[in-house]
Parts: sequence; C-alpha cells; structure tokens
Amino acid sequence: MPSFHSTFTKSSSLSHIFTKTRLRHLTTTTTATMSTESSLRESLAAKLTTINHHGDVIRSLKSSKAPKSEIEEAVKALNALKLEKTEIENELKAAISGGSDGSNSFNGMSRDTFRQAVVNTLERRLFYVPSFKIYRGVAGLYDYGPPGCAIKSNVLSFWRQHFVLEENMLEVDCPCVTPEVVLKASGHVDKFTDLMVKDEKTGTCYRADHLLKDHCKDKLEKDLAISSEMAAELKHVLAVLDDLSAEQLGAKIKEYGIVAPDTKNPLSDPYPFNLMFATSIGPSGMSPGYMRPETAQGIFVNFKDLYYYNGNKLPFAAAQIGQAFRNEISPRQGLLRVREFTLAEIEHFVDPDDKSHPKYSEVSNLEFLMFPRDEQMSGEAAKRLCLGDAVSEGTVNNQTLAYFIGRVYLFLTHLGIDEKRLRFRQHLPNEMAHYAADCWDAEIESSYGWIECVGIADRSAYDLRAHTEKSGVALVAQEKFSEPKEVEKLVITPNKKELGLAFKGDQKLVIESLEAMNEKEAMEMKATLESKGEIEFEVCKLQKMVTIKKNMLSISKETKREHQRTFTPSVIEPSFGIGRIIYCLYEHSFYMRPDKSGDEQLNVFRFPPLVAPIKCTVFPLVQNEEYEEVANRISRSLTAAGISNKKDITGTSIGKRYARTDELGVPFAITVDSKTSVTIRERDSKDQIRVNVDEVATVVKDVSEGRTTWADILQIYPAHTSASADE
Ligand code: AMP
Repeated sequence: MPSFHSTFTKSSSLSHIFTKTRLRHLTTTTTATMSTESSLRESLAAKLTTINHHGDVIRSLKSSKAPKSEIEEAVKALNALKLEKTEIENELKAAISGGSDGSNSFNGMSRDTFRQAVVNTLERRLFYVPSFKIYRGVAGLYDYGPPGCAIKSNVLSFWRQHFVLEENMLEVDCPCVTPEVVLKASGHVDKFTDLMVKDEKTGTCYRADHLLKDHCKDKLEKDLAISSEMAAELKHVLAVLDDLSAEQLGAKIKEYGIVAPDTKNPLSDPYPFNLMFATSIGPSGMSPGYMRPETAQGIFVNFKDLYYYNGNKLPFAAAQIGQAFRNEISPRQGLLRVREFTLAEIEHFVDPDDKSHPKYSEVSNLEFLMFPRDEQMSGEAAKRLCLGDAVSEGTVNNQTLAYFIGRVYLFLTHLGIDEKRLRFRQHLPNEMAHYAADCWDAEIESSYGWIECVGIADRSAYDLRAHTEKSGVALVAQEKFSEPKEVEKLVITPNKKELGLAFKGDQKLVIESLEAMNEKEAMEMKATLESKGEIEFEVCKLQKMVTIKKNMLSISKETKREHQRTFTPSVIEPSFGIGRIIYCLYEHSFYMRPDKSGDEQLNVFRFPPLVAPIKCTVFPLVQNEEYEEVANRISRSLTAAGISNKKDITGTSIGKRYARTDELGVPFAITVDSKTSVTIRERDSKDQIRVNVDEVATVVKDVSEGRTTWADILQIYPAHTSASADE
C-alpha cells in the first residue's frame, strides 16, 4: 500500500530532498543514456541560439537590401542548420524513449498504437469490459467476460498450486466488510491517503502527484527545447515525488503553473483523501466500517488461532485471495489502477531472530534482473544478479525474503511474463515504512512503463504489535528452550502511589506507556532520571508530554531462568495484484501476423496452455453429420479429461476459424477431416500433426498440462501438411 507507506515516511523539507542526489528510476535509463540525453539537450539549445542568430542576420541583410546571392547563401545556411536541429531532436527523442523499450516489445509499433491494438482486441473479445457500460460505466470498475474469467481462474489456481500447496500455507477467506477498529489499529483510517487537488471552478478531483508527474514527463518528452538544468530538475522531482508533503506538492504545482487538465482552471491546494470506501454495519448506522483495502488484516487478526492450528509452530504462512477496494482519486491505465481488484496475499510468520528458509537452496541459484537501491541512486540500470549472491552480499535482507522473491520470479515467468521485462526493484529508504526491514517490488514492463505487480515486504512485527495493542489480545509466539536459559530481563516497576498523585485519572495510560518502553528507551530514561532527576515523556494515547520524576518508577535489569521466550513474529508479505499481472500478461502475449494473403494482420495471444482460457477448439472441416458426430465425441472425451474446449461447427472457412481461436489465445485446434483420424494444429508455429480419434484427448491433455511438449509430440506423430487446413 504505497500511499500508506509514503505517508508514514514523508520527509519534512523540500530543500533536504533536492540536495540529495537521489534518482529513482522509472525506466531502465542508464547513466550513458542520461548523459547522452543531457548533452543532446545542450546541443539542441546551442543550435536554437545559432538559428535565431542566423534569422536575425537574414532579416538585417534583407532590410539593408544586400545582394540577392548573399541573402540566398544565408538562407541556405539557415536551412542546413534547421536540418541539423531536426536530427538532434530525433536523436533526443530516441534517447528519451530508450531503455528496454525496444520496438520488439511492442510488435514494431509505438507504445500507444500497440496498447490500442491489445485493448481493442481484449474488449472486442470480452476479456474485460467497463462495468455498467449501458449506463456509461464508472471509472475504475471493470467486468471480466468469459475468456477473462477463465484466465483469472487459471492464474489463481496456479497461484494456489505454486504457493499454498507447495508451502502448506493456511488459506483463509475473510469478509470484505471490516469494522473500523481493525483498520484504525492497522493505521489505515488515519494514514491510507493520497493527496488530492480540486478544480476550483468545477470541483473535479485529481491526484496531485499524478498531475505533477504528468507535467514533468510531458515537459521531458515533448518540450525538447528545455535546458539540461531544467531537465535535471524535472527528473529530480519525478525521483522524489512519493516523498513530497502536501505543502511541497502544492508549491511545485504553483511554481510550474499546473492547472486543471480539462478546463485549465486553477487548482486548490493539495489535501489528503482517504482511499477507503466507508460504510456502516447493521441498520443503526452506529457501527462504522470500511470495505477492506487489502486482505492482509483478516490474516493478522486471526493469527492466534492460526498459530494454534499450526501446532504452535513457526514459521508458517497464511494466504488469502479476495477483493480489495480503494476509492482511487483518478483511476487510469485500464486494469492497472482500479477501484475494486483481486489481491492474493501471503503472510509468512517467522522468528525475527531466524529468517533462514529451509528451501532457500531451491531458488538461490536463480539469476534475473534486479534493481537494488544503490543502482537506482547512482543512476545505473537494473542488472542480472544471482539471488544467492544478493543475499550473501547483504543486498537482500534475509533468506526468507529472497526465497519469496525467487518463487515470485518462477510464478510470473511460468505464467508467460517475459523475463526480460520483469525486474525486482528494491524500495529506497524513503519509500519504505519506518518499521519495514526490506521491500522489493516485482515490476513488469508494459506499454505504460514499469508497473508494480507484486510487493514483497519484510514488515517486521508491526502489524501483529498494532493489533495486540488495540485488541488487548497477545498476538505472540513462544519458543520452548531445550534447557532453561539465564536471560537478562528489563524490569519496569511503576510506583503507583506517586504516579496516582501526579496524574490522577491519566495514571493508567501513563503506566501503560511506561511499561511499553523497549530496552533502549528504558535505559535512556534511567540514565536521565539518575543524572537530572526528571524527564519529559510522551504518552501517545494522551497525545501529550508529561514529566516523570525519579521516585515514580524503578528501572532495572534482572537475570532470570527461563524455559521459553515469548516474542512477536516478523511477517514477510508477498502481495499480488492479480489484475495487474493479467493485464501485463495480455501485453506480453499479444502479437500480430499477416494472414495467408498478406493483406490483413491477425491478432494472436501466445498464452501458455496453463493460462489459456480454452485449451482446445474442435471443428469439423466441412459441415456434415458424420464429422459433427466425431467432433462431438472428441469434445466429450476432452471434457471428461478436464480439458476446456469449444466446438465451432459454423460453415466459415477453416482459416477464419483458426484466426478466431488464435485471437482468444487457444493453443490447440483439432480439425475433423475424417472419421478415424484428425489433425491437431499448434497456434504459434501453425504446425499440424495427424492423430487417431481415440488418442486425441490424451495427447491434448498431456501437452496442455505440461507432461509433454509440442516439440516431443512432433517427433511422435506424423506431420500434416495439407494446404486446405492452413489459413
Ligand atoms: P499495495 O498494498 O499498495 O502494495 O498493493 C499490493 C498490490 O496490489 C500491488 O502490488 C498492485 O499489484 C495491486 N494494486 C494496488 N493498487 C491497485 C489498484 N488501484 N488497482 C489494481 N491493482 C492495485
């Protein structure tokens, strides 16, 4: 939950932020491309000055009635300069959109054209559509149609297999409607906000950081004439955007003259807007609640029972798949920023003193693109790292966090995410909540840029502590020692008489706060009380400072023999935005290829069989009863084998029927062209084989479920090369 974390970590002064040479990389821009970019900007500025100067020269030649040949010569030179300017502009444009955004990623098209082609196909084939469309829809709400539902269900069932089953996780299913107290304890009621500005005349709302971001990006990409100093400043603003307070954002919006995009009206000052949908539980309206903004809290509040269910043993993980609701100020980018979405979350509870993982060696040799903090801050690109090295060098905080990073990598690439466009980006210190030990986002590159799709965070003991404090139920774990241990323990003994006299009705809360001090705080208090006799102490629940005197408590350390230790577990949380993963998968799977005549471009989704909405289509080559009967028989045997399939008995040409199924990403098509054997065609290679009717369901099942590969099948079954069956 970025807005929540960022609110926790806001820095206090803009000058402090701008003096830091911190560059958060929104794309894989390298130092080389950055310096190319700034030197190109400088050349462009110099060229523009020369062109202006030349313009002046020509005007004065003309006004002084200089000889025609001299004027012509000067105009020729000016035209040559303009040509040079165009060349620099083109180079600059290429440098700006550089990085890994090679045209290959977008099928040789511009990002916008590519995205349009994908989204048109997705909406036309009902992968997803805007919800409530006949009433003109609601921003940020989408319906999944039949292929979209099938893909989502496949992604989720693979998620269950890859995480829940593999790790013996405890799956739970908690309500979306959540009482206020839970979200008050977690911090969401007070802090789950984004900064908003309003059009002062129409009242239309915008996310303040988005307006500033769009302004900076637009200037950088479209206003090629800006100086390299200005470009550097805009990049700094982009880098520290998450850090800016309401005042700092407001100041930048004013400084850059940013107005409401639609009306050009002035904007209000930014102010926080809580993203949760508020509701009330029951008819009285007296019991406030919210639609949950994440599924995690349902797991935390059940920790005690889950720990017991697990035989009072750590580590263990609980998992939950469910809807999350965030009243985004300005939903955009289709499925990427919506107001209701499916989250799949894991909370792995672990001893804070031992974050090793028994299956770490299964992932430690993996190598993939990682973008550690240092590389981001020094302006370098993401680089391929071996996960094991990243842990041993201290880049990744601990084995368990690394284990999940590795498992997320395997999950996403198995689904069909292109591993060249997947990177794990470490949060910068300013992005992390103060309590977090380390956080990495799995970011996938799409036509919208790099998108956070999975957040993997070591949240230490924050959540369990917060609910322990609010509910009064100890959400803790125990470790039984094999032999009793001598343990030095902090003992805080309040003097209730003195405290009662000093604080009267507030006494209870003052005592609670004193007893809640950790060892460092307590020993510092002890030292000050001994040297000065009193200390100012903040009682959070009273929201004020009180003076504690030496005679009000004693603080000491005692050695005790203990048979067990009690502690609050740390939690490592991988949190998957299912809609975002699916959208990126759509983009990574989409391509276009010419039809047989070469006149038309056909759309194809190269989904792996695991994900494909339908595994196989069955169609008779021509409309006749005998072939239809065979098609029915095959379809029934596929269904019995659990393979989703679709019959197409329309009289349309076979090429058109293939094209229709390619556009849905169906990997295999069976064409019935005889009563005894049929052809199976693979979507991407368009290779065909001939298989006996009785064997066909087994072959398709094996290849769909990954027990065999298409390459193996090609070796076993005879190829079919009839031109009639090709498009
Ligand atoms: P967060 O709790 O903000 O880290 O979000 C967890 C995951 O939910 C992110 O990694 C995203 O994949 C996804 N997510 C967050 N906000 C949205 C949104 N408005 N629409 C769709 N997915 C989202």
